[in-house]
Amino acid sequence: MTLSIPFDNSYARLPGGFFSVQAPDPVRAPRLVAFNADLARVLGIQPGEAQEMAQVFAGNAVPEGAQPLAQLYSGHQFGQYNPQLGDGRAILLGEVVGADGIRRDIQLKGAGRTPYSRSGDGRAWLGPVLREYVVSEAMAALGIPTTRALAVVETGETVLRERALPGAVLTRVAQSHLRVGTFQVFAARGEIAHLRSLTDYAIARHYPDAQGPMGLLAAVRDAQARLIALWMGVGFIHGVMNTDNSSISGETIDYGPCAFMDSYHPDTVYSSIDRFGRYAYSNQPDIAVWNLAQLATALIQQMEDKEAAVEEATGIVHAMPGLLEREWLRVFAAKIGIDRPTDADKALVTDLLNRMAREQADFTNTFRALGSARARDQFTDPTAYDGWAEGWQQRLGQEAGPDALMRAANPAFIPRNHRIEQMIAAAVNDDYTLFHRLNAVLARPYEDQPDQIDLTRPPAENEVVQATFCG
Ligand code: AMP
Ligand code: MG
Ligand code: MG
Repeated sequence: MTLSIPFDNSYARLPGGFFSVQAPDPVRAPRLVAFNADLARVLGIQPGEAQEMAQVFAGNAVPEGAQPLAQLYSGHQFGQYNPQLGDGRAILLGEVVGADGIRRDIQLKGAGRTPYSRSGDGRAWLGPVLREYVVSEAMAALGIPTTRALAVVETGETVLRERALPGAVLTRVAQSHLRVGTFQVFAARGEIAHLRSLTDYAIARHYPDAQGPMGLLAAVRDAQARLIALWMGVGFIHGVMNTDNSSISGETIDYGPCAFMDSYHPDTVYSSIDRFGRYAYSNQPDIAVWNLAQLATALIQQMEDKEAAVEEATGIVHAMPGLLEREWLRVFAAKIGIDRPTDADKALVTDLLNRMAREQADFTNTFRALGSARARDQFTDPTAYDGWAEGWQQRLGQEAGPDALMRAANPAFIPRNHRIEQMIAAAVNDDYTLFHRLNAVLARPYEDQPDQIDLTRPPAENEVVQATFCG
Protein backbone atom coordinates (compact mmCIF):
# COMPACT_ATOMS: atom_id res chain seq x y z
CA MET A 1 0.00 0.00 0.00
CA THR A 2 1.25 3.45 -0.89
CA LEU A 3 0.34 6.69 0.85
CA SER A 4 -1.70 8.94 -1.38
CA ILE A 5 -3.00 12.41 -0.57
CA PRO A 6 -5.40 13.95 -3.13
CA PHE A 7 -3.99 17.48 -3.08
CA ASP A 8 -5.96 20.33 -4.59
CA ASN A 9 -4.12 23.51 -3.65
CA SER A 10 -5.69 26.95 -3.74
CA TYR A 11 -3.45 29.01 -1.47
CA ALA A 12 -0.41 28.35 -3.62
CA ARG A 13 -2.25 30.04 -6.51
CA LEU A 14 -2.55 33.33 -4.59
CA PRO A 15 0.00 36.09 -5.38
CA GLY A 16 3.60 35.49 -4.33
CA GLY A 17 3.39 38.12 -1.57
CA PHE A 18 1.16 35.80 0.45
CA PHE A 19 3.81 33.22 1.27
CA SER A 20 7.33 31.94 0.76
CA VAL A 21 7.91 28.73 -1.15
CA GLN A 22 9.68 26.60 1.41
CA ALA A 23 10.42 22.87 1.53
CA PRO A 24 10.47 21.17 4.92
CA ASP A 25 13.91 20.48 6.39
CA PRO A 26 14.59 16.71 6.60
CA VAL A 27 15.19 15.09 9.99
CA ARG A 28 17.61 12.34 10.96
CA ALA A 29 15.53 9.33 11.96
CA PRO A 30 11.77 9.79 11.55
CA ARG A 31 9.47 7.36 13.34
CA LEU A 32 5.67 7.48 13.04
CA VAL A 33 4.18 7.40 16.55
CA ALA A 34 0.57 8.43 15.84
CA PHE A 35 -1.70 8.34 12.83
CA ASN A 36 -5.37 9.36 12.87
CA ALA A 37 -6.94 6.82 10.52
CA ASP A 38 -10.50 8.12 11.09
CA LEU A 39 -9.50 11.63 10.07
CA ALA A 40 -7.50 10.31 7.10
CA ARG A 41 -10.66 8.62 5.85
CA VAL A 42 -12.61 11.90 5.96
CA LEU A 43 -9.81 13.59 4.05
CA GLY A 44 -9.66 10.91 1.36
CA ILE A 45 -6.09 10.03 2.31
CA GLN A 46 -5.03 6.48 1.64
CA PRO A 47 -2.53 5.39 4.32
CA GLY A 48 0.75 3.78 3.34
CA GLU A 49 3.42 1.71 5.09
CA ALA A 50 4.58 3.16 8.43
CA GLN A 51 8.06 3.93 7.08
CA GLU A 52 6.70 5.85 4.10
CA MET A 53 4.28 7.78 6.29
CA ALA A 54 7.12 8.61 8.67
CA GLN A 55 9.11 10.08 5.76
CA VAL A 56 6.18 12.17 4.49
CA PHE A 57 4.86 13.38 7.87
CA ALA A 58 8.39 14.30 8.96
CA GLY A 59 8.91 16.40 5.84
CA ASN A 60 11.72 14.17 4.55
CA ALA A 61 9.73 13.24 1.44
CA VAL A 62 7.44 15.72 -0.28
CA PRO A 63 4.39 13.78 -1.48
CA GLU A 64 3.09 14.08 -5.01
CA GLY A 65 0.82 17.09 -5.49
CA ALA A 66 2.14 19.00 -2.46
CA GLN A 67 3.36 22.61 -2.91
CA PRO A 68 5.17 23.34 0.35
CA LEU A 69 5.06 26.93 1.53
CA ALA A 70 5.22 29.10 4.65
CA GLN A 71 2.37 31.59 5.09
CA LEU A 72 2.92 35.26 5.86
CA TYR A 73 1.00 37.01 8.62
CA SER A 74 1.49 39.56 11.37
CA GLY A 75 -0.45 40.17 14.55
CA HIS A 76 -0.94 41.70 17.95
CA GLN A 77 0.90 39.69 20.59
CA PHE A 78 -0.42 40.53 24.08
CA GLY A 79 -1.76 43.77 22.62
CA GLN A 80 1.48 44.83 20.89
CA TYR A 81 1.58 44.89 17.11
CA ASN A 82 4.34 42.76 15.59
CA PRO A 83 4.62 43.69 11.89
CA GLN A 84 5.93 40.33 10.76
CA LEU A 85 5.27 36.90 12.15
CA GLY A 86 4.35 34.17 9.64
CA ASP A 87 4.88 30.42 9.76
CA GLY A 88 8.18 30.22 11.59
CA ARG A 89 8.11 26.47 12.00
CA ALA A 90 5.09 25.35 10.00
CA ILE A 91 4.96 24.30 6.36
CA LEU A 92 1.70 24.07 4.46
CA LEU A 93 1.91 21.02 2.20
CA GLY A 94 -1.35 21.84 0.43
CA GLU A 95 -5.08 21.22 0.67
CA VAL A 96 -7.52 18.38 0.17
CA VAL A 97 -11.27 18.45 -0.34
CA GLY A 98 -12.75 15.82 1.95
CA ALA A 99 -15.58 13.35 1.52
CA ASP A 100 -17.75 15.97 3.30
CA GLY A 101 -16.93 18.54 0.58
CA ILE A 102 -14.89 20.66 2.98
CA ARG A 103 -11.49 21.99 1.86
CA ARG A 104 -8.78 21.56 4.48
CA ASP A 105 -5.12 22.50 4.87
CA ILE A 106 -2.51 19.87 5.63
CA GLN A 107 0.35 21.44 7.50
CA LEU A 108 3.54 20.16 9.12
CA LYS A 109 4.30 21.90 12.42
CA GLY A 110 7.92 21.73 13.54
CA ALA A 111 9.25 21.10 10.02
CA GLY A 112 12.24 23.41 10.12
CA ARG A 113 13.22 27.03 9.64
CA THR A 114 11.45 29.37 7.20
CA PRO A 115 11.99 33.02 6.19
CA TYR A 116 9.69 33.89 9.12
CA SER A 117 11.54 31.99 11.84
CA ARG A 118 13.29 35.04 13.30
CA SER A 119 15.46 33.65 16.14
CA GLY A 120 13.49 30.39 16.39
CA ASP A 121 14.83 26.96 15.44
CA GLY A 122 11.79 25.98 13.37
CA ARG A 123 11.27 22.89 15.51
CA ALA A 124 8.85 21.53 18.07
CA TRP A 125 9.49 19.12 20.90
CA LEU A 126 7.44 16.03 21.57
CA GLY A 127 5.55 17.41 24.60
CA PRO A 128 3.58 20.23 22.93
CA VAL A 129 3.09 18.09 19.83
CA LEU A 130 1.38 15.31 21.81
CA ARG A 131 -0.52 17.88 23.87
CA GLU A 132 -1.91 19.46 20.69
CA TYR A 133 -2.78 16.05 19.27
CA VAL A 134 -4.75 14.96 22.34
CA VAL A 135 -6.36 18.30 23.15
CA SER A 136 -7.39 19.21 19.59
CA GLU A 137 -8.88 15.75 19.01
CA ALA A 138 -10.68 15.99 22.37
CA MET A 139 -12.09 19.38 21.36
CA ALA A 140 -13.38 17.90 18.10
CA ALA A 141 -15.10 15.07 19.99
CA LEU A 142 -16.62 17.62 22.37
CA GLY A 143 -18.22 19.24 19.33
CA ILE A 144 -16.08 22.38 19.37
CA PRO A 145 -14.72 23.77 16.08
CA THR A 146 -10.99 23.08 15.99
CA THR A 147 -7.99 22.18 13.92
CA ARG A 148 -7.37 18.43 13.91
CA ALA A 149 -4.33 16.20 14.31
CA LEU A 150 -3.46 13.71 11.57
CA ALA A 151 -0.05 12.37 12.55
CA VAL A 152 2.94 12.63 14.86
CA VAL A 153 6.48 11.71 13.90
CA GLU A 154 9.39 11.63 16.29
CA THR A 155 12.38 13.10 14.47
CA GLY A 156 15.22 11.21 16.14
CA GLU A 157 16.79 14.60 16.81
CA THR A 158 16.85 16.63 19.98
CA VAL A 159 15.46 20.14 20.33
CA LEU A 160 17.05 22.56 22.74
CA ARG A 161 14.58 24.25 25.10
CA GLU A 162 15.39 24.64 28.78
CA ARG A 163 17.17 21.34 28.16
CA ALA A 164 17.60 18.88 25.27
CA LEU A 165 14.28 17.27 24.45
CA PRO A 166 13.06 14.81 21.82
CA GLY A 167 11.93 16.53 18.62
CA ALA A 168 8.67 15.84 16.80
CA VAL A 169 6.55 17.01 13.89
CA LEU A 170 2.76 17.36 14.10
CA THR A 171 0.64 17.08 10.98
CA ARG A 172 -2.18 19.53 11.53
CA VAL A 173 -5.41 19.84 9.57
CA ALA A 174 -7.48 23.04 9.46
CA GLN A 175 -10.36 24.43 7.44
CA SER A 176 -7.72 27.04 6.70
CA HIS A 177 -4.85 28.75 8.47
CA LEU A 178 -6.19 32.23 7.68
CA ARG A 179 -5.88 34.38 10.77
CA VAL A 180 -6.86 37.91 11.76
CA GLY A 181 -3.11 38.54 11.38
CA THR A 182 -3.17 37.43 7.73
CA PHE A 183 -5.37 40.48 7.03
CA GLN A 184 -3.41 42.75 9.33
CA VAL A 185 -0.10 42.30 7.51
CA PHE A 186 -1.42 43.55 4.16
CA ALA A 187 -3.47 46.34 5.74
CA ALA A 188 -0.48 47.58 7.75
CA ARG A 189 1.75 47.56 4.68
CA GLY A 190 -0.85 49.34 2.55
CA GLU A 191 -0.93 46.39 0.12
CA ILE A 192 -4.55 46.94 -0.76
CA ALA A 193 -4.66 44.69 -3.84
CA HIS A 194 -3.47 41.79 -1.69
CA LEU A 195 -5.96 42.70 1.02
CA ARG A 196 -8.77 42.56 -1.55
CA SER A 197 -7.58 39.21 -2.95
CA LEU A 198 -7.38 37.79 0.57
CA THR A 199 -10.88 39.03 1.39
CA ASP A 200 -12.30 37.42 -1.76
CA TYR A 201 -10.40 34.22 -1.01
CA ALA A 202 -11.67 34.03 2.59
CA ILE A 203 -15.27 34.66 1.54
CA ALA A 204 -15.15 32.03 -1.21
CA ARG A 205 -13.52 29.48 1.07
CA HIS A 206 -15.44 30.00 4.32
CA TYR A 207 -18.48 32.23 3.95
CA PRO A 208 -19.72 32.10 0.33
CA ASP A 209 -22.94 33.91 1.33
CA ALA A 210 -21.11 36.88 2.85
CA GLN A 211 -21.35 40.18 0.96
CA GLY A 212 -18.04 42.03 0.73
CA PRO A 213 -15.56 42.87 3.51
CA MET A 214 -18.23 43.89 6.03
CA GLY A 215 -20.19 40.71 5.34
CA LEU A 216 -17.00 38.77 6.06
CA LEU A 217 -16.49 40.72 9.29
CA ALA A 218 -20.00 39.86 10.49
CA ALA A 219 -19.55 36.19 9.57
CA VAL A 220 -16.26 35.94 11.48
CA ARG A 221 -17.90 37.69 14.44
CA ASP A 222 -20.69 35.11 14.55
CA ALA A 223 -18.30 32.16 14.23
CA GLN A 224 -15.95 33.52 16.90
CA ALA A 225 -18.79 34.32 19.31
CA ARG A 226 -20.07 30.78 19.02
CA LEU A 227 -16.56 29.35 19.43
CA ILE A 228 -15.69 31.33 22.56
CA ALA A 229 -19.02 30.44 24.18
CA LEU A 230 -18.26 26.76 23.55
CA TRP A 231 -14.79 27.15 25.10
CA MET A 232 -16.35 28.72 28.19
CA GLY A 233 -18.80 25.86 28.43
CA VAL A 234 -16.06 23.25 28.84
CA GLY A 235 -13.72 25.37 30.98
CA PHE A 236 -11.17 25.75 28.20
CA ILE A 237 -8.50 28.44 28.40
CA HIS A 238 -6.67 29.02 25.11
CA GLY A 239 -3.83 30.90 26.74
CA VAL A 240 -2.49 32.89 23.74
CA MET A 241 -5.40 34.65 22.06
CA ASN A 242 -3.13 36.87 19.99
CA THR A 243 -4.62 38.06 16.70
CA ASP A 244 -2.29 35.71 14.80
CA ASN A 245 -3.85 32.82 16.74
CA SER A 246 -7.41 33.93 15.99
CA SER A 247 -8.80 32.03 13.04
CA ILE A 248 -11.05 33.37 10.29
CA SER A 249 -12.88 30.05 9.99
CA GLY A 250 -13.84 30.18 13.68
CA GLU A 251 -11.81 27.11 14.64
CA THR A 252 -9.68 26.77 17.74
CA ILE A 253 -6.13 27.12 16.45
CA ASP A 254 -2.54 27.16 17.74
CA TYR A 255 -2.71 25.06 20.85
CA GLY A 256 0.14 26.25 23.03
CA PRO A 257 -0.12 26.69 26.78
CA CYS A 258 -3.84 25.92 26.67
CA ALA A 259 -5.57 24.11 29.52
CA PHE A 260 -8.89 22.95 30.91
CA MET A 261 -9.78 24.15 34.39
CA ASP A 262 -10.12 21.68 37.20
CA SER A 263 -11.73 23.65 40.05
CA TYR A 264 -13.67 26.62 38.77
CA HIS A 265 -12.43 30.15 39.10
CA PRO A 266 -13.04 32.92 36.55
CA ASP A 267 -9.53 34.39 36.97
CA THR A 268 -7.76 31.14 36.13
CA VAL A 269 -4.55 31.47 34.08
CA TYR A 270 -2.13 28.63 33.33
CA SER A 271 0.16 30.07 30.68
CA SER A 272 3.58 30.90 32.07
CA ILE A 273 3.91 33.84 29.65
CA ASP A 274 0.52 35.42 30.48
CA ARG A 275 1.89 37.37 33.45
CA PHE A 276 -0.97 39.86 33.72
CA GLY A 277 -3.84 37.48 33.00
CA ARG A 278 -4.80 39.12 29.70
CA TYR A 279 -6.02 35.73 28.47
CA ALA A 280 -7.55 34.50 31.74
CA TYR A 281 -10.64 32.28 31.44
CA SER A 282 -13.23 35.00 31.98
CA ASN A 283 -11.43 37.55 29.77
CA GLN A 284 -11.76 35.41 26.66
CA PRO A 285 -15.05 36.95 25.40
CA ASP A 286 -13.68 40.50 25.74
CA ILE A 287 -10.47 39.52 23.96
CA ALA A 288 -12.45 38.01 21.10
CA VAL A 289 -14.17 41.38 20.67
CA TRP A 290 -10.81 43.17 20.76
CA ASN A 291 -9.46 40.80 18.12
CA LEU A 292 -12.51 41.36 15.93
CA ALA A 293 -11.92 45.11 16.19
CA GLN A 294 -8.40 44.52 14.80
CA LEU A 295 -9.90 42.57 11.90
CA ALA A 296 -12.34 45.42 11.30
CA THR A 297 -9.49 47.94 11.25
CA ALA A 298 -7.65 45.84 8.69
CA LEU A 299 -10.66 45.19 6.44
CA ILE A 300 -11.64 48.87 6.34
CA GLN A 301 -8.40 49.79 4.56
CA GLN A 302 -9.77 48.43 1.28
CA MET A 303 -13.07 50.36 1.37
CA GLU A 304 -13.63 53.31 -0.96
CA ASP A 305 -15.79 55.27 1.47
CA LYS A 306 -13.80 55.00 4.71
CA GLU A 307 -16.17 57.04 6.81
CA ALA A 308 -19.17 54.87 5.94
CA ALA A 309 -17.05 51.73 6.42
CA VAL A 310 -15.95 52.80 9.89
CA GLU A 311 -19.56 53.33 10.86
CA GLU A 312 -20.67 49.97 9.52
CA ALA A 313 -17.72 48.09 11.03
CA THR A 314 -18.28 49.77 14.39
CA GLY A 315 -21.87 48.55 14.39
CA ILE A 316 -20.76 45.00 13.57
CA VAL A 317 -18.12 44.94 16.31
CA HIS A 318 -20.37 46.58 18.89
CA ALA A 319 -22.97 43.87 18.37
CA MET A 320 -20.47 41.18 19.38
CA PRO A 321 -20.71 41.48 23.20
CA GLY A 322 -24.48 40.99 23.06
CA LEU A 323 -24.04 38.06 20.74
CA LEU A 324 -21.42 36.48 23.00
CA GLU A 325 -23.73 36.93 25.95
CA ARG A 326 -26.58 35.16 24.15
CA GLU A 327 -24.32 32.29 22.99
CA TRP A 328 -22.89 32.00 26.48
CA LEU A 329 -26.34 31.84 28.05
CA ARG A 330 -27.49 29.23 25.54
CA VAL A 331 -24.44 27.05 26.33
CA PHE A 332 -24.66 27.38 30.11
CA ALA A 333 -28.44 27.10 30.28
CA ALA A 334 -28.18 23.75 28.47
CA LYS A 335 -25.61 22.70 31.07
CA ILE A 336 -28.25 23.14 33.78
CA GLY A 337 -31.01 21.55 31.69
CA ILE A 338 -32.76 24.65 30.35
CA ASP A 339 -33.55 24.71 26.65
CA ARG A 340 -34.74 28.27 25.89
CA PRO A 341 -33.24 30.50 28.54
CA THR A 342 -34.69 33.83 29.59
CA ASP A 343 -32.77 36.65 31.29
CA ALA A 344 -33.88 35.31 34.68
CA ASP A 345 -32.02 32.07 33.92
CA LYS A 346 -28.79 34.01 33.58
CA ALA A 347 -28.97 34.85 37.29
CA LEU A 348 -29.46 31.16 38.06
CA VAL A 349 -26.33 30.17 36.11
CA THR A 350 -24.27 33.00 37.57
CA ASP A 351 -25.34 32.11 41.09
CA LEU A 352 -24.15 28.53 40.58
CA LEU A 353 -20.81 29.67 39.13
CA ASN A 354 -20.24 32.10 42.00
CA ARG A 355 -20.85 29.35 44.52
CA MET A 356 -18.57 26.99 42.59
CA ALA A 357 -15.78 29.58 42.60
CA ARG A 358 -16.15 30.19 46.33
CA GLU A 359 -16.27 26.50 47.21
CA GLN A 360 -13.59 25.33 44.71
CA ALA A 361 -15.94 22.99 42.91
CA ASP A 362 -14.53 20.99 40.02
CA PHE A 363 -15.98 22.54 36.84
CA THR A 364 -16.49 19.38 34.78
CA ASN A 365 -17.57 17.05 37.57
CA THR A 366 -20.03 19.51 39.12
CA PHE A 367 -21.96 20.02 35.90
CA ARG A 368 -21.83 16.34 35.00
CA ALA A 369 -23.27 15.38 38.40
CA LEU A 370 -25.95 18.08 38.73
CA GLY A 371 -29.06 16.66 40.32
CA SER A 372 -27.24 13.81 42.04
CA ALA A 373 -25.64 13.71 45.48
CA ARG A 374 -22.24 13.70 43.82
CA ALA A 375 -22.72 17.33 42.74
CA ARG A 376 -22.90 18.63 46.31
CA ASP A 377 -19.77 16.65 47.21
CA GLN A 378 -17.82 18.89 44.82
CA PHE A 379 -18.29 21.88 47.13
CA THR A 380 -16.09 22.41 50.20
CA ASP A 381 -19.32 23.47 51.91
CA PRO A 382 -22.03 21.28 50.33
CA THR A 383 -24.84 23.49 51.69
CA ALA A 384 -23.69 26.11 49.15
CA TYR A 385 -24.91 23.69 46.48
CA ASP A 386 -28.16 22.93 48.32
CA GLY A 387 -28.94 26.65 48.53
CA TRP A 388 -28.78 26.85 44.76
CA ALA A 389 -30.32 23.51 43.85
CA GLU A 390 -33.67 24.28 45.46
CA GLY A 391 -34.45 27.18 43.12
CA TRP A 392 -33.00 25.25 40.21
CA GLN A 393 -35.27 22.25 40.79
CA GLN A 394 -38.27 24.54 40.80
CA ARG A 395 -37.19 26.09 37.49
CA LEU A 396 -36.61 22.63 35.95
CA GLY A 397 -40.25 21.75 36.57
CA GLN A 398 -41.07 23.83 33.49
CA GLU A 399 -38.60 21.96 31.23
CA ALA A 400 -39.48 19.00 28.99
CA GLY A 401 -36.30 16.88 28.86
CA PRO A 402 -33.62 18.43 31.04
CA ASP A 403 -31.69 15.18 31.65
CA ALA A 404 -30.97 14.46 28.00
CA LEU A 405 -30.04 18.11 27.41
CA MET A 406 -27.63 18.09 30.34
CA ARG A 407 -25.96 14.83 29.37
CA ALA A 408 -25.27 16.21 25.90
CA ALA A 409 -23.95 19.50 27.30
CA ASN A 410 -21.80 18.23 30.19
CA PRO A 411 -18.92 15.94 29.28
CA ALA A 412 -17.68 13.34 31.75
CA PHE A 413 -14.17 13.46 30.27
CA ILE A 414 -11.90 16.37 29.44
CA PRO A 415 -8.12 16.26 28.90
CA ARG A 416 -7.04 17.17 32.40
CA ASN A 417 -3.66 18.91 32.70
CA HIS A 418 -2.11 16.42 35.08
CA ARG A 419 -3.00 13.55 32.74
CA ILE A 420 -1.50 15.41 29.81
CA GLU A 421 1.71 15.93 31.80
CA GLN A 422 1.79 12.26 32.81
CA MET A 423 1.17 11.26 29.18
CA ILE A 424 4.07 13.42 27.96
CA ALA A 425 6.45 12.18 30.64
CA ALA A 426 5.67 8.57 29.68
CA ALA A 427 6.01 9.22 25.93
CA VAL A 428 9.43 10.79 26.45
CA ASN A 429 10.35 7.38 27.91
CA ASP A 430 8.82 5.77 24.83
CA ASP A 431 5.67 4.60 26.61
CA TYR A 432 2.64 5.68 24.55
CA THR A 433 0.07 3.72 26.57
CA LEU A 434 -1.51 6.75 28.22
CA PHE A 435 -1.43 8.73 24.95
CA HIS A 436 -3.49 6.05 23.21
CA ARG A 437 -5.77 5.57 26.19
CA LEU A 438 -6.51 9.30 26.43
CA ASN A 439 -7.32 9.47 22.74
CA ALA A 440 -9.68 6.49 22.96
CA VAL A 441 -11.54 7.74 26.04
CA LEU A 442 -11.71 11.39 24.94
CA ALA A 443 -13.21 10.35 21.62
CA ARG A 444 -16.45 9.64 23.56
CA PRO A 445 -16.46 12.40 26.19
CA TYR A 446 -20.22 12.34 26.86
CA GLU A 447 -20.35 8.61 27.63
CA ASP A 448 -19.89 7.36 31.20
CA GLN A 449 -17.19 4.69 30.54
CA PRO A 450 -17.20 3.41 34.18
CA ASP A 451 -13.91 1.51 33.76
CA GLN A 452 -12.15 4.81 32.95
CA ILE A 453 -13.39 6.61 36.07
CA ASP A 454 -9.85 7.51 37.17
CA LEU A 455 -9.63 9.88 34.20
CA THR A 456 -12.52 11.94 35.60
CA ARG A 457 -10.69 12.66 38.84
CA PRO A 458 -9.14 16.06 39.51
CA PRO A 459 -5.42 16.05 40.34
CA ALA A 460 -4.18 15.04 43.77
CA GLU A 461 -2.33 17.84 45.57
CA ASN A 462 1.04 16.69 44.27
CA GLU A 463 -0.28 16.33 40.70
CA VAL A 464 -1.62 19.87 40.25
CA VAL A 465 -0.20 21.62 37.19
CA GLN A 466 0.54 25.24 38.10
CA ALA A 467 1.77 26.51 34.74
CA THR A 468 1.80 25.51 31.10
CA PHE A 469 4.42 26.42 28.50
CA CYS A 470 4.47 27.28 24.81
CA GLY A 471 7.04 24.71 23.68
P1 AMP B 1 2.56 31.27 18.58
O1 AMP B 1 1.99 32.48 19.27
O2 AMP B 1 3.18 30.27 19.49
O3 AMP B 1 1.53 30.62 17.73
O4 AMP B 1 3.75 31.74 17.60
C1 AMP B 1 4.13 33.07 17.39
C2 AMP B 1 5.13 33.15 16.26
O5 AMP B 1 6.37 32.53 16.63
C3 AMP B 1 4.70 32.48 14.97
O6 AMP B 1 5.17 33.26 13.89
C4 AMP B 1 5.43 31.15 15.03
O7 AMP B 1 5.63 30.59 13.75
C5 AMP B 1 6.74 31.55 15.67
N1 AMP B 1 7.43 30.44 16.34
C6 AMP B 1 7.04 29.79 17.46
N2 AMP B 1 7.94 28.84 17.80
C7 AMP B 1 8.91 28.87 16.86
C8 AMP B 1 10.12 28.12 16.65
N3 AMP B 1 10.52 27.15 17.47
N4 AMP B 1 10.87 28.44 15.56
C9 AMP B 1 10.51 29.42 14.72
N5 AMP B 1 9.39 30.16 14.87
C10 AMP B 1 8.59 29.89 15.91
MG1 MG C 1 0.51 31.09 16.31
MG1 MG D 1 2.27 28.28 17.59
